Amino acid sequence: MADTFQKLAAIRGMNDVLPGDAARWERLESLVRDWLRSYGYRNLRTPVLEYTRLFTRGIGEVTDIVEKEMYSFTDSLNGDSLTMRPEFTAGIVRATIEHSLIYDRPQRVFAIGPVFRHERPQRGRYRQFHQIDVEALGFAGPDIDAELILMLARLWKILGLTDIRLELNSLGSAEERLAHREALIAYLEGFKDQLDEDGQRRLYTNPLRVLDTKNPALQQIADDAPRLLDFLGEASRAHFDGVRRRLDDAGIAYRINPRLVRGLDYYNLTVFEWVTDRLGAQGTVCGGGRYDGLIQLLGGKPAPAVGFAIGMERLLDLWTQAAEQEAEPECDVYVVHQGEAASLRAAAVAETLRDAGLDVVLHCGAGKFGAQMKRADASGAAFAVILGDDEIAAGQATVKDLRQAAQPGADNQRRLPFDGLAEALVDALAAG
Ligand code: ATP
Ligand code: MG
Repeated sequence: MADTFQKLAAIRGMNDVLPGDAARWERLESLVRDWLRSYGYRNLRTPVLEYTRLFTRGIGEVTDIVEKEMYSFTDSLNGDSLTMRPEFTAGIVRATIEHSLIYDRPQRVFAIGPVFRHERPQRGRYRQFHQIDVEALGFAGPDIDAELILMLARLWKILGLTDIRLELNSLGSAEERLAHREALIAYLEGFKDQLDEDGQRRLYTNPLRVLDTKNPALQQIADDAPRLLDFLGEASRAHFDGVRRRLDDAGIAYRINPRLVRGLDYYNLTVFEWVTDRLGAQGTVCGGGRYDGLIQLLGGKPAPAVGFAIGMERLLDLWTQAAEQEAEPECDVYVVHQGEAASLRAAAVAETLRDAGLDVVLHCGAGKFGAQMKRADASGAAFAVILGDDEIAAGQATVKDLRQAAQPGADNQRRLPFDGLAEALVDALAAG
């Protein structure tokens, strides 16, 4: 038996969030939800599993995600090919079409949750990670494009992030990309021998993605390549200028990066990324852009759309660096009890405290008084409520202020009648 027993562990690249860290996640999520509400975004929740063809069609066959990162499997019951969502946009667009959400009015929606990509795990790159995904469906822009970017600038401010900068580009229209593509292929053919395996493969299928390469040996080739920006027609240029003017008016700094193409096939016009140097190699915190063709591509009536996704692990990492996070107390009040009568009464006392809105942890299980008080201290509670035979007989509780050390002459402990105990604790907590 012993040699066949395998220790059970989480899957590589998929992380547990333990209670000590979960408090930070919850705080971040709560700030993010308030921020989203302040711009009128509403939650849209889609399933984790979708038919694989949604992603192959929606994201594009020649992309990192579809080529090598998807968790796909065959449903053994009926042979369907299913995939764990690698991103939110395709599923949200599918739901939008399926429920005819945007034909009477445009929609501002968001989703927060896990997504799955089979990548090489490292800091800031996991196989299950979390995204805050925001989509504005049915808007043609450029006003909404700028609003999304302004909105992100506000989130960084709320979180106290400063070392984060905006990169901006325009991918133009399909026809403009086609004209650029021909010029790009002709240019890249001149360097065919120098391209890496990815580059060789993408040269004719998705040459724009060759510019997106992270291979240091190819940077110069990519830098000198024909720029899509130079192929933009009047309408695309006007859209881009419209976004830029609004950013300039709002005082948002940005760098135009002609090589910014984004990983997914479906983008057009505005694309952007927010990047930082504080996260090591994985410095992109947020990526987004316009995808006017996707709704039609997935079977809907043509409608424009734009959105972005934030990587939550990277955001959390950055936020933790920017703002010292205090440990969250488990509760306001920890209830300690000694003796049969007190232990029977303790649960009822705890319930009356919760009725008054307090967060209360009741000591459960056996335990000497000293051990229980140690637990009370460790909980981070402001007060311990102590019940013993004396207290029960007197109809009172002993309240100990855990944040104030006992000093000679100054008592940090007092007796209070059960009647009015909750109110007294609420007042004391409000007084700090
Ligand atoms: P990268 O170039 O880093 O692979 P991407 O272009 O694949 O990023 P998107 O598909 O735009 O990323 O996803 C949006 C955001 O999600 C990224 O900007 C990043 O913050 C985060 N992200 C992407 N992949 C991962 C991952 N494997 N682990 C953690 N966060 C990720
Ligand atoms: Mg990627």
